[in-house]
Amino acid sequence: MPIKTKAALLEAKNQPLTVKEISLNPPKDREVLVKVEMAGLCRSDLNAIVGHTRYDMPLVLGHEGAGTVVDIGPNVKSLKKGDRVVLSWAAFCGDCFFCNKGLTHQCHTVAWPRGKGLLPDWTTRFSDNGKEVFHFNGVSSFSEYTVVYETGCVPIGNDISFDVASVVGCSVVTGIGAVYNTANVPEGATSLVVGGGNVGLSIIQALKIKGAGVIIAVDPNKEKWHAIAEAGADIVLPEISMDEINKATGGFGVDYAFDGVATEETLNQSLAAVRRAGTVVMVGSPHPLAKYALSPIEFHLEKKIIGSLYGSSNPGRDIPRLLDFYRNGQLKLDGFTTASFSLDDINNAIKALEDSGGKYTITF
Ligand SMILES: [Zn+2]
Ligand SMILES: [Zn+2]
Repeated sequence: MPIKTKAALLEAKNQPLTVKEISLNPPKDREVLVKVEMAGLCRSDLNAIVGHTRYDMPLVLGHEGAGTVVDIGPNVKSLKKGDRVVLSWAAFCGDCFFCNKGLTHQCHTVAWPRGKGLLPDWTTRFSDNGKEVFHFNGVSSFSEYTVVYETGCVPIGNDISFDVASVVGCSVVTGIGAVYNTANVPEGATSLVVGGGNVGLSIIQALKIKGAGVIIAVDPNKEKWHAIAEAGADIVLPEISMDEINKATGGFGVDYAFDGVATEETLNQSLAAVRRAGTVVMVGSPHPLAKYALSPIEFHLEKKIIGSLYGSSNPGRDIPRLLDFYRNGQLKLDGFTTASFSLDDINNAIKALEDSGGKYTITF
């Protein structure tokens, strides 16, 4: 039997979300029903609103959050009713071309339907008066209840608050994974971090935990500088400056540049900032149709640009690891959230993110 759930729907691009009661069918094979306790608002939700994604609508937005498992479908092995969980959009099947190579974040079985707003069996669980309602990133956390795939749902202990659990599933995993998984930065390496938002702050903290060398961070917004320095950056700049980078690295350039912005300008500047045979890690998500001009001589100098999707992370492996960093006091997540809003007030949370940045959550 379907249940009723109050959810925030994107019905047309560039429109406020509509908060209304819709229907949610029970979990199918390897799926779980989650009562959402708190959801994080993230930039990709805004990208969907302005139409940078090709999702069908109406669509229940929200792609990070935390809650409690209230029902499980057939063949669910890793979760039980009552488990407190972090939601992650990087669910995976565990047995496809990519999963068998250890690249669960590229899982073909889950990613293809996910991009169409569907769960891995190519159907939706949400509906509104018999009409299909689509799932954003397989999570749809802006709903009192949601149905998600088992591997996108990571059990956490009772000691982690929902305030913390609701904001780790996207930007924090992405930032830490870029350092730990994609680049696997060695001890002592010098780094440039472009962008001091939540991904950038997570990258800086991960570099510190890894025992990295000098960290130079760049963000034009001086209001963020205190948090950037607190996270562990040694030098904070308003823009990429080769003079400052050369001064801090003996004239050679940094070993790694993490580009969280990923525009043509920042990618070229990052490439110039790394030393010969150094590595640029592109962490930001570019516009899907963007084309950039890059100087090939940089590659002749053995510089590399490597992509990083979701920090090459596996939620079941990497979310418990970052929560352990938090428990040990190595990763600061308290005070991460600027403000929380109710679901009815979600359009004000979206406006606050658009107008002034920060991190906002929706409390149910
Ligand atoms: Zn996100
Ligand atoms: Zn797979």
